[in-house]
Amino acid sequence: MHRFTKIVCTIGPATSSRDAIKSLVKAGMDVVRLNFSHGTHEEHAARIKLIREVSKELATPVAIIQDLPGPKLRVGKLPNEPLRLEAGDRVTLSVSQQVGSAGVIPVHPEGFPRMVDVGSEVYLADGMIRLRVVGKNGPNVMCEVEVGGNLTTGKGVNVPHVKGEVGAVTEEDVEHIRFGLSSGVDYIALSFVRSAADLDTARRIVSEFGSDVPLIAKIEKAEAVDRLDDIVRRSDAVMVARGDLGVELGLENVPLIQKRIIRLSNAMGRPVITATQILLSMLTYTTPTRAEVSDIANAILDGTDALMLSEETAVGANYLEAVGVLDRVCRRVESELGYGSQGLSEAESVEDAVGMAACRVASAIRAEEIVAYTRSGSTARLIAKYRPHTEIVAFTPSESVARRLKLVWGVLPFKIDEVVGELQPEIVEQALRKFGFAKSGEKAVIVAGAPTGPVGSTNMIRVQLIH
Ligand code: ATP
Ligand code: MG
Ligand code: MG
Repeated sequence: MHRFTKIVCTIGPATSSRDAIKSLVKAGMDVVRLNFSHGTHEEHAARIKLIREVSKELATPVAIIQDLPGPKLRVGKLPNEPLRLEAGDRVTLSVSQQVGSAGVIPVHPEGFPRMVDVGSEVYLADGMIRLRVVGKNGPNVMCEVEVGGNLTTGKGVNVPHVKGEVGAVTEEDVEHIRFGLSSGVDYIALSFVRSAADLDTARRIVSEFGSDVPLIAKIEKAEAVDRLDDIVRRSDAVMVARGDLGVELGLENVPLIQKRIIRLSNAMGRPVITATQILLSMLTYTTPTRAEVSDIANAILDGTDALMLSEETAVGANYLEAVGVLDRVCRRVESELGYGSQGLSEAESVEDAVGMAACRVASAIRAEEIVAYTRSGSTARLIAKYRPHTEIVAFTPSESVARRLKLVWGVLPFKIDEVVGELQPEIVEQALRKFGFAKSGEKAVIVAGAPTGPVGSTNMIRVQLIH
């Protein structure tokens, strides 16, 4: 059996060599995340080139997500890292200094001092360090450390409960988008989305560059949680960005919000990624904690399409072990998932009904696989929405669609030649054999659109016996 839940790895300094990328793909990495909050365009370009080369060499599609910084406050350059902060220390956060100095931590962008008052709480590094504002003076905000920790360059700064005054797509983001699209990224993730309008803005920019790249809405602000329905509907995929979500809303709210986001994304057929601190302890140790393994299992039971590693693979030495743990836990939990584990929602359209019916037929006849021929990817996504008990083999004539489908639960995408006219049984059988699937006597459920129909019209189900 293949793994159904997908694995997303952030590629960073620890994993930018050809060997590291190759071993990650072999270990099961389906999707790469490049975090544009860190590193230069040159570094990311080199990574993209290597990923494409390795993916070609191993004949495995790999999707690349470009994760945009958005309007996030961050710590600037620290000359001596890590900077140790102890409870009771006094530090100044300054927007007028590019590089830190004794007792001064640079922060950008410059709007930061306006967001705080004396008495405000400021969190650093995904909430690990807590400061309290004790004074303000122009570009400088004086703070006392309440909860200490080690701080490094580029870590996030959060002021909970402050409404975003800047749009989710900054001028800097537009530059990143231009770079990402010209480098051929497969998804763009928007940070700190507040409303569906932020997605519209990004979509307009993307289409001005002549692209239809799918957009991932990162849910990490209270405002986004309040408008979840609209945002999920207007996005192509969703991320439960638990790092900032936890700081903005309080940790105790994260588990229930995670369930809500996943349930809604499942119901609307949007791939959803669960992210942050999935295996954080593996930065230090080669085995995870029990709590981390339970968290992974619960995300799968919630219905997540994918699990994402951040520091674990960006800067962690045990990146291969981390992917190995994810792979094992996914397979074990999935072996107990029943068909339709997400609850079969009512079919909303002809395509939905066909996707749902294909899963029912596959379950009833114990088919070995569901095969989708899909030009846009939508047929495969529709089948995945109904969470069948067998893998979904997606054949597509488009390399970019094959890569995009790597993010979708249960889908194994392969590029084949364009099928002209009817999807003949021999074509399916040949393709299945080529990629090592069909054995004689097995049954497969085939789903496709009308041969001449418009993209996205899924309307054919056939049961095929493999000869
Ligand atoms: P975000 O809010 O976008 O998740 P983050 O700072 O939490 O930002 P992650 O990618 O989640 O970033 O975590 C990876 C950590 O690894 C970063 O905080 C940073 O300290 C370190 N890092 C250094 N270089 C990179 C890089 N090129 N890509 C990703 N992470 C990097
Ligand atoms: Mg993070
Ligand atoms: Mg974030």
